[in-house]
Amino acid sequence: MSDSAFHYVDGVLHAEGVSAASLAEQFGTPLYVYSRDALTQAYRAYADACAGRNATVHVAVKANSNLAVLNVFARMGAGFDIVSSGELARVIAAGGRAEHTVFSGVGKSAAEMREGLEAGVKCFNVESIPELHALNEVAKSLGKKAPVSLRVNPDVDAKTHPYISTGLKSNKFGVAFSDARATYAQAQAMDHLDVVGIDCHIGSQITEISPYLDALDKLLELVGQIEADGMRIRHIDVGGGLGITYDDETPPAIGDFVTTLLDHIGKRGHGAREVYFEPGRSLVGNAGVLLTRVEYLKPGEEKNFAIVDAAMNDLARPAMYEAFHRIVPVVKRDAAAQTYDVVGPVCESGDWLGRDRELALVPGDLLAICSAGAYGFVMSSNYNTRPRAAEIMVDGERARLVREREEVKQLFAGESILPD
Ligand SMILES: *Cc1c(COP(=O)(O)O)cnc(C)c1O
Repeated sequence: MSDSAFHYVDGVLHAEGVSAASLAEQFGTPLYVYSRDALTQAYRAYADACAGRNATVHVAVKANSNLAVLNVFARMGAGFDIVSSGELARVIAAGGRAEHTVFSGVGKSAAEMREGLEAGVKCFNVESIPELHALNEVAKSLGKKAPVSLRVNPDVDAKTHPYISTGLKSNKFGVAFSDARATYAQAQAMDHLDVVGIDCHIGSQITEISPYLDALDKLLELVGQIEADGMRIRHIDVGGGLGITYDDETPPAIGDFVTTLLDHIGKRGHGAREVYFEPGRSLVGNAGVLLTRVEYLKPGEEKNFAIVDAAMNDLARPAMYEAFHRIVPVVKRDAAAQTYDVVGPVCESGDWLGRDRELALVPGDLLAICSAGAYGFVMSSNYNTRPRAAEIMVDGERARLVREREEVKQLFAGESILPD
């Protein structure tokens, strides 16, 4: 949680200048709350370190695709990294530009390629030979040339959770390092493709720089080979993946991370190439919290449960990756703490938000689940026919509703019963 954006004033949690208790009162719970200032500061840390260095930031839309969040970045001149044509539509609706957007993803459909080409995206990050053929065909049908980069799998261990590690041989992502040179040669031979770059993405929640440097060395070695084969690699896309502090992790500062990578590329003699960063989590993760209200306290022989009104459908990360999120009271209470598992109302034992937490609680209390800005709302579902939460953006003293809470009738509006 960004300490400057989320802090206590007289024992009450505030998002910038607004009390979280008043937000819950006004907008109800569960409620996602984002801080414009925290988003801005995280983006600036990247942009300032890139300034004057032929490097650009492409915000990974999948981490948080709310239009207001994307718009905050678009206003600061961000580019975007998308993984579907739905995300492309969001970028455009939020004021972003297709020509500053990179189209990633392992399974782009022909329809998505067409939409990307018609909109004029900056580059397609391609992950397989069949995808190269498909893109070449779509570009031909439109009388265009598609700008492409190959996502190379450098086979480095990002030392993160297996579900969010993507740069190992055993992962589904990218072109195998040993096949990359030949795959580039195939791309070059296709009339409607224009080879412009190289990319990788080795994982997420990475808290060390060394895996990036290992991946970069492999990429740069390839660049030399590809250029010897007559192609020109104009940009190197180093992917996203920088970790954040959920608990006691100590990831490098964003500025140091950017500078170290750029210096490394410069030292290897590749300083003239444009470098793309594709951060997601490190821009939005600690810029958001999820507010929830305690419904019931349920003491047990082995465990005490605090049953809250947010659940795995609102925040899937604990159920999905056993991810840790700090959970703090909205109003600090002077009472003895007890150990609780904080759980939701969904009918699954996996529906927990935090385990073994020391909290002083009574029913009706508000809790903030920290670091919920990335892979939070975007992964939410309607499981158990639960309407998805509202989203709020705080900007100084003001709070704006940036996504309405869903209503139950919306959830089955597209369904119908058999006529007879
Ligand atoms: C998910 C993803 C990102 C962003 O990753 P973070 O860990 O959120 O920074 C960047 N690029 C690609 C290709 C991705 O799939």
